[in-house]
Amino acid sequence: MNLDTPLRHIPGIGYLHGRRLAEINLLTVNDLINHFPFRYDDFSEIVPINEAQLNTKVTLKGEIWSIKNIFTRYGKKLTQAVFNDGTNSINLTWFNSTYLTKSIKVGDRLQISGKLTKYGSKLSIIMPVWERLESGISIKGQVVREEKYLHTGGLISVYPETEGISSKWLRTKISQILPKVSLFIEDPLPGDIKGKMLDLKDSYQKIHFPENYPDADKARERLAFDEIFIIQLQTLKVKSEWSRVKSIEALSINRPELEKYIKSLPFQLTGAQLKVLEEIISDLKSQTPMNRLVQGEVGSGKTVVAAITAYISHLNGLKTLYMAPTEILAFQHHATFQKLLAPVGINTGLYTGSKKFTKIKDLRLKTGKKNIKSSITNLQSSPDIIIGTHALLSDKLVADDVGLVIIDEQQRFGVEQRSILRSKAKIPHFLTMTATPIPRTVALTLYGDLDLSIIDELPKGRIPVKTHVVPSKKRKDAYKFIQQRVDAGEQVYIITPLIEISETLLTVKAAKDEFETLQKVFPKLKLGLLHGCLKPKEKDQVLNDFKDKRFDILVSTSVVEVGVDVPNATIMVIEGAERFGLAQLHQLRGRVGRGSKQSYCLLFPTTEESQIVSRLKNLERISDGMKLSEIDLKIRGSGEIFGKRQSGRLDLKIASFADIDLIEKTRAAAQKLLAEDATLANYPRLKVKLSSFEQVAPD
Ligand code: ADP
Ligand code: MG
Repeated sequence: MNLDTPLRHIPGIGYLHGRRLAEINLLTVNDLINHFPFRYDDFSEIVPINEAQLNTKVTLKGEIWSIKNIFTRYGKKLTQAVFNDGTNSINLTWFNSTYLTKSIKVGDRLQISGKLTKYGSKLSIIMPVWERLESGISIKGQVVREEKYLHTGGLISVYPETEGISSKWLRTKISQILPKVSLFIEDPLPGDIKGKMLDLKDSYQKIHFPENYPDADKARERLAFDEIFIIQLQTLKVKSEWSRVKSIEALSINRPELEKYIKSLPFQLTGAQLKVLEEIISDLKSQTPMNRLVQGEVGSGKTVVAAITAYISHLNGLKTLYMAPTEILAFQHHATFQKLLAPVGINTGLYTGSKKFTKIKDLRLKTGKKNIKSSITNLQSSPDIIIGTHALLSDKLVADDVGLVIIDEQQRFGVEQRSILRSKAKIPHFLTMTATPIPRTVALTLYGDLDLSIIDELPKGRIPVKTHVVPSKKRKDAYKFIQQRVDAGEQVYIITPLIEISETLLTVKAAKDEFETLQKVFPKLKLGLLHGCLKPKEKDQVLNDFKDKRFDILVSTSVVEVGVDVPNATIMVIEGAERFGLAQLHQLRGRVGRGSKQSYCLLFPTTEESQIVSRLKNLERISDGMKLSEIDLKIRGSGEIFGKRQSGRLDLKIASFADIDLIEKTRAAAQKLLAEDATLANYPRLKVKLSSFEQVAPD
């Protein structure tokens, strides 16, 4: 057995458990030992029953005096035992665990842990964790205490679980497997970076089986360091490789032409747009290719900044490639670019998966070629700007004289894809854009290879969306309000977090269910249904119908998040709102408030728990996406910012992007190391870690 051994090949795990583990992305031994506990239960003191404190967690040692199954009148299955430790007796109760009477017999000596309560007049523990006294598993390679128990006594690790995989099961397996593979755990850190931190091998032992909290903290510190350090090394390495490409000719900036063009636009650029444009211009004038990330809220006007940059590239005789994450967005941008740039004689073409050859009639006319395919693949005589999806990455697309590559919503594309696209350019000026508010610490870490520009101002005249967290007793009123707005000719989105009811998320309203319920609530209105399982064509159809006002209400999962623009929609209702991160809710809210009318966002949580409501209430007060995403980061961690679908590289296992100290420490360490050894020639173990990391691209 080694770190790469598939878990399903391990005796005692097998196919069934292997499949369940695969569902939570645990495939190999390495994955398993990197499945870290998210907390510990403290069972460190074994006490006699007559000294145990009511309503605290206790660990007891004693004997089973009786055990039996009881079936109650209401169909509940209980297992009840009497447990005695020589000082007193207590009752133990388990639910739906009738199999226990097969494994626990009268006279068995057990160590049990749980919360001591009083039920009627009897001392009780409900659902205690238990373990046989005689067969406590000792852990190899560690000073074994007189009796070392895995599941009771001491600090007991609690893991993220899944169906059929309990914390108890995980602890048992990890305790068996870790000692067998620990000789393969090699510490990749150079001694001076490691400093006083724990050795890697010890860290794994102590994160899973700590003796005490300081142990667990030290282990966490070390493992978190490694996790962020590798990301830092990766981004800094890319950055330094990039800045060594210095052979390019600086672009010239024709100020009078540029100013004339900007004046001709249908609106005045905001101060933030102008500021970012100047940052871009200073990149283009230098001999190092631009590598810049522009971040700006939905609606902040990134597209026009991209268009102006493309115009500069054109004035220098160079072409532009523009990659969008979905076809719908590519079409939308194509239309926008045509409108913005056709007046100055620039052609924009489309290159996507399905519609590669259908929408480019004008291209055929312009190039005068019969064969559209060759005209599009030979761009010498074709559009100045090619807008497309990841189809742009295809080998067939040979583009000469490309001077600028633009990527929209760039975190959806991997490092790999970025570099393919970049390799198509003669002068690879690189502009990437995102509407996702990425907190600075995250941006520095994940996109530290990019320079950052922020459009932190919306165009004038936008009316802020009024947001309310709606308690369930106000639901009827909310529906009445919706009816009124629809009667006034406006449209509504209703978002549900999932499409089918899932057993684990019983309280979450499913889109299909919701659709039927709502049809009854609004019998006279026309409702449409949109969800991720529809084919792209069907999705397009539903969206177009909504745009054309054939529906009053669009019931949808969060797929509308991307690129839907229906200015007549003024209400955004979000069901099960607590299931979403704040930044994600903010993006959804950005779907309304696009026209001239006052818009509303109504958040319906499935619970009225005060913590949850107060988290959501942030949206009532704050309309700045960045602030919301920073709150998210503090409360729920980074996975929330990008939503589950895109979490990819952001799915940290143990570190947190909110830990600014850690971010700075790892960055400094990575910088120092690369300054001494840019190719990591002396650190083969780090190189191995980096290369396995590079393969993990989102989506
Ligand atoms: P995003 O940053 O989300 O990509 P867009 O570029 O699509 O935003 O811009 C949103 C809308 O705002 C578009 O209709 C665009 O024409 C308009 N817009 C962009 N800049 C300005 C501005 N300075 N003043 C007024 N409207 C603007
Ligand atoms: Mg955009």
